[in-house]
Amino acid sequence: MNTGYVYDPIFLKHTYPGHPEGAQRLKAIHQALEQAGLWSALQQLSSRAATEDELSYIHPLAYQNRVKFLSQRGGGFLDPDTYTTAASYQAAAAAAGSLIDLSMAVVDGRLHNGFALVRPPGHHATIDQGMGFCLFSNVAIAAKAVQQQGGVERVAIIDFDVHHGNGTQDALYEDPDVLFFSTHQYPYYPGTGRADELGWGKARGTTVNFPLPVGVGDEGFKQLYQEILVPILRRFQPQLILVSAGYDAHWDDPLAQLGLTLTGLAWISQTLIALANEICQGKIVFSLEGGYNLEVLGHGVSNSIRALLNQTDFTDPIGQSPWPEPDLTTYLKEMKKLHHL
Ligand SMILES: [Zn+2]
Repeated sequence: MNTGYVYDPIFLKHTYPGHPEGAQRLKAIHQALEQAGLWSALQQLSSRAATEDELSYIHPLAYQNRVKFLSQRGGGFLDPDTYTTAASYQAAAAAAGSLIDLSMAVVDGRLHNGFALVRPPGHHATIDQGMGFCLFSNVAIAAKAVQQQGGVERVAIIDFDVHHGNGTQDALYEDPDVLFFSTHQYPYYPGTGRADELGWGKARGTTVNFPLPVGVGDEGFKQLYQEILVPILRRFQPQLILVSAGYDAHWDDPLAQLGLTLTGLAWISQTLIALANEICQGKIVFSLEGGYNLEVLGHGVSNSIRALLNQTDFTDPIGQSPWPEPDLTTYLKEMKKLHHL
């Protein structure tokens, strides 16, 4: 069975001069996949726009219409960081809809796993506010869609973007059937993601936040994944894993200060895929979030796709972080206690 991807040229029309979250990001990924000879190994799934009903899994119609009207007027800002253009509603609806279809194809067994090469990203968009370069909450919408349309009960979302996925967390904070696991630099944008944000009511314990100090890199992530992520996923037994794949936790990203290398990011992808193979017949879908160093982004996405294809010839021309890593031993002990491990 194949590894699939979704992509739509409309994603390039959501772009703004000088903004770090622009069309150049997908162009860099496209070129990197070309150079790596990976396109021919992948199966493309057609893109499509999410319907209003599907967007309504997370976003009230009033907010959808706000994005639509701004686009119809030629664009404008949803917040100081978050632009729209005339094509943005169409691009954002296509990002969400294409991720839904890719996820459904993996759930149905038509594809083994997949990567959604989509923009704009989604994990900061709350139910009624676009922010942090995000318009619609792609991954949260896809999680609800596979529950509603695919008969899936439990979904795990792993967010390794350097920023906290506040929008995903907010949308699913009271849903006991979606596990949200986020690692992020803290304190940092958007300011949320404390360890004691654990979910609400019946969902308490299904939000797992790892606020991390500056400099945490490959060693810290390895410890954190092996000691906490692995047992938590085994305990939760998801039927699908969705990955908010941001490549801005790399040490050379211009917007943040964590310390991962491309080798470390590839290890993260491999580990998540191995867990999916163990727990849920390999059903895992990556969805592009952040990542603003274009060279890192190109190699990073290529490496994740190699991992999805069960290849191990990862590339890391950028190398080691020049900064030392903080020791997480005591912190991880406390986190294990908090999550009853
Ligand atoms: Zn980010």
